Amino acid sequence: SPTLVWIRRDLRLSDHAALTAAVARGGPVIPVFLRDALVDGLGAAPKWRLGLGLGHFAEVLEGKGSRLILRSGDARAVIPALAQELGAGAVYWQRAYDPASVERDTDVKAALKDLGIEAKSFAGHLMFEPWTVETGQGTFYKVYTPFWKSVRDRSVEAPIAAPSALPAPDTWPDSEVLEDWALGAAMNRGADVVRPFVQLGEQAAQARLGAFMASKVARYDVTRDLPAVDGTSNLSENLALGEISPAQCWHAGQRAMEEGKAGAETFLKELVWREFAYHLMWHTPRILTDNWREEWAAFLWNEDERKAEVKAWKQGRTGIRFVDAAMREMYVTGRMHNRGRMIVASYLTKHLMCHWKIGLRWFEDCLIDWDPASNAMGWQWSAGSGPDATPYFRVFNPVTQLDKFDKDRGYVSRWIAEGYRRPHDDALKYFEAIPRRWKMTPDDVYPSPIVSPEEGRKRALAAYENRDF
Ligand code: FAD
Repeated sequence: SPTLVWIRRDLRLSDHAALTAAVARGGPVIPVFLRDALVDGLGAAPKWRLGLGLGHFAEVLEGKGSRLILRSGDARAVIPALAQELGAGAVYWQRAYDPASVERDTDVKAALKDLGIEAKSFAGHLMFEPWTVETGQGTFYKVYTPFWKSVRDRSVEAPIAAPSALPAPDTWPDSEVLEDWALGAAMNRGADVVRPFVQLGEQAAQARLGAFMASKVARYDVTRDLPAVDGTSNLSENLALGEISPAQCWHAGQRAMEEGKAGAETFLKELVWREFAYHLMWHTPRILTDNWREEWAAFLWNEDERKAEVKAWKQGRTGIRFVDAAMREMYVTGRMHNRGRMIVASYLTKHLMCHWKIGLRWFEDCLIDWDPASNAMGWQWSAGSGPDATPYFRVFNPVTQLDKFDKDRGYVSRWIAEGYRRPHDDALKYFEAIPRRWKMTPDDVYPSPIVSPEEGRKRALAAYENRDF
């Protein structure tokens, strides 16, 4: 009987345990992607990027004589009904870890079992299942370093090769049409602008990993902090949609370490930050929606998104160059350098005293590498409300940060046009991407700071000292 493989954030053929198991089971393999409420609820950029990923993956499957069947609706009803329609004996998928997906998948599993259909989920999106990592006291980890120490010597299974063939059914079930889903509809801010920065699909992701290991990893521990240098892997975009697996990255990193490449261990540590984010989300799902340190609910954050300061932050015109460059980089490329993420998050939550949720939501709308766990951990870490967070009283100074990490101003001059006689092409692209109602032009005078580093720091510290927790 056929096996239904429910494709989710795993748009690849290699190191795909569910797909491999489906082939091994014998019988036709039918890949299906379901557009449910979770897909509909995605932010503009990640939804658009998902659409590109699905279109590409469907082509790859077709190249293998297979297809990607598209359906819409509530998985609890649609997946069991489709399995019945096809006479499938089994439904396989790779696990997700966010609370809404977990609840959905649990229900689907039960519904399939009631029908006598085998339902099985596999690991793959993570290397270390969150429930398998625990402290000596049998609890989960709240601090990164001991988490890293407890997993770094674990063996991670070698990645599985892509199946050589995907057996097709005699007749394919009906499929909806990807274009009809219009997953890019809300991407009204220059999809054409962002598109050249996208590296789509499994092959591109493997090429990215290969290029990183060949020429960047050796200096990664130094260059990863310099936003003007393309010194990182850029794989977050592909990891977010499972176009590459973390285990594939891990094994490549291990090989680089054996070859004595200096930055390799730092790269492995970063992959483990991603695992740690999932560990936290699994054990404390409230990290997605509420202050992880609950006492922070009493802090007087500004929660009004319409405030002029919030607008200036989103639009990249705070008058703080590091902040504005990073916000514009995100708008144009769909990604932002990690140093930039930390600085814009610190500026919003500390200098501007705005709730981290405002920033979290804006990132969710703009990032093509949006990841629920890493985004939430990153924001709560920056705001001081998260586990193992930078304390609130440690306020990054975005001006001295610039002297430290963008000494030659290569980053800010790439992303800011105002005041430059011959602005960088990317800085000009920003003005093609933004809506006209923002009323910004490259010929404007670059604004003076809406809140200066000193003033913002003072205000934030005073609020912190006067808090009543
Ligand atoms: P590399 O430096 O090459 O690192 C390799 C991989 O390790 C990354 O692809 C990523 O999967 C993982 N990684 C690296 N740093 C971190 C980190 N701090 N936390 C978790 N995983 C990490 N990352 C996302 O993937 N999606 C997000 O939505 C996201 N939002 C963030 C929001 C804030 C406020 C902050 C401070 C960080 C956020 N990050 C997010 C983490 C980090 O900035 C990105 O993973 C990184 O910049 C991606 O670039 P890269 O692939 O070149 O990373």
